[in-house]
Amino acid sequence: MWFVPKQVILTKDNLLKRRWVGSSRCCFCDHDETIQHLFIDCPLAKLLWQTIHIAFNIVPLISIESLFGTWLAGV
Ligand SMILES: [Zn+2]
Repeated sequence: MWFVPKQVILTKDNLLKRRWVGSSRCCFCDHDETIQHLFIDCPLAKLLWQTIHIAFNIVPLISIESLFGTWLAGV
């Protein structure tokens, strides 16, 4: 989880910066894959956050920046 706010996870946008050859699209929804997309904006991520919200009554994460701030403080 430390890598997420540092934005150093090897998502496809970061791989392309390192001269990786491949599609920049998300495997789940075909949008450009970034950390923000993969953890927040992707429809699959939203479904997972909603499931967590229903199961554990934890407010869904709204931004990567809030992961170690308000969100984890409320868990
Ligand atoms: Zn997606």
